[in-house]
Amino acid sequence: MTRRTFVKNVSAGIAAGTVRGAPGVARAVDKSGKGLFEIKRVADGVYVAAAAPVYKVNSNAAIIANEDGLLVVDTHSKPSAARALVQEIGEMTAKPVRYVVNTHFHFDHWQGNEVYPAAYPNVEVITTEITREALLRKGVARIRDQIRTVPGEIAKLKAELAAAPTAGRRAELQANLQQAEAYLEELKGLTPALPTMAFERAMRLIKRDREIELLYLGRAHTDGDLFVFMPQEKVVVTGDAVIGWTPFMGDGYPEDWVRTLQKLEQLDFTHMIMGHGDVAGKEWLRFFRGYIAELIEAVRREAAGGASLDEIKQRVPNQLAAKYEQRFSTYGDYRPWRRLVLTNIERVYATAL
Ligand SMILES: [Zn+2]
Repeated sequence: MTRRTFVKNVSAGIAAGTVRGAPGVARAVDKSGKGLFEIKRVADGVYVAAAAPVYKVNSNAAIIANEDGLLVVDTHSKPSAARALVQEIGEMTAKPVRYVVNTHFHFDHWQGNEVYPAAYPNVEVITTEITREALLRKGVARIRDQIRTVPGEIAKLKAELAAAPTAGRRAELQANLQQAEAYLEELKGLTPALPTMAFERAMRLIKRDREIELLYLGRAHTDGDLFVFMPQEKVVVTGDAVIGWTPFMGDGYPEDWVRTLQKLEQLDFTHMIMGHGDVAGKEWLRFFRGYIAELIEAVRREAAGGASLDEIKQRVPNQLAAKYEQRFSTYGDYRPWRRLVLTNIERVYATAL
């Protein structure tokens, strides 16, 4: 990677927690995919392609440059997004992508997989055994589910657009509608590329000047979360086990999640490339884990006192708001804590009582 001026160094903001800089509102992306990512340097040969907060969410990617080629972590929600990143990578270096890693089975982290074997015939796609199994069973099924549900989403956006009160709101809905329609077309054409290599506990890629550890530390955001750890550079890549806003817990295991993040904290690192949001450090990891732990505690306390799920959903957000609402709202109305905490409560109620 020679075009260092092309990327920004993210070290400066780490001490303060997450690095600010993402816009507060969802925005439009042109057809070429320009504007989907901003590539920033995290450490020597380690980069984050930070995904813009758009309606059809994309994951961040981590790009690790080895002597003989690149390793890319996660492939976004759709091939066009992965192609946009492959294009940007091609402008930065002539090295091929040799490994793609999927951190977990969610759509916005793997549905672009097929782009890599098409562009780089020798690429291996690696994940945990559990996540490979989940991709086979649930990942592929959820593509079909989305093909069924996205038309409803489009109809709703059209109805909202027709009733939009302001030009600004109309522009926003128009952009979202265009993304949803393009996304549906891509879903119909997907040819899912499943991982070609899988491991149970750990896998080490040892290069002359770098060691990359792929780790399974236990259940968290899903049952098969994969972490990437670079001990020399002191960088971890977390997938959605840690993100820059309120966690999605729909497929998560809240109690295990806290324990898994305790194990993660034991690793010696300074920079954390998360599934979504800006690069952060250990302070954010502790804050994020604290939220899950306190949420479990609060739901249990209310349930033990006889509260119903509805009552818990009324009370617990107010108990946690002072500490968590503001810091989980870095991106303004994009993925608002007040709404997400309710689904988080439901998941804790279903799994951790
Ligand atoms: Zn996820």
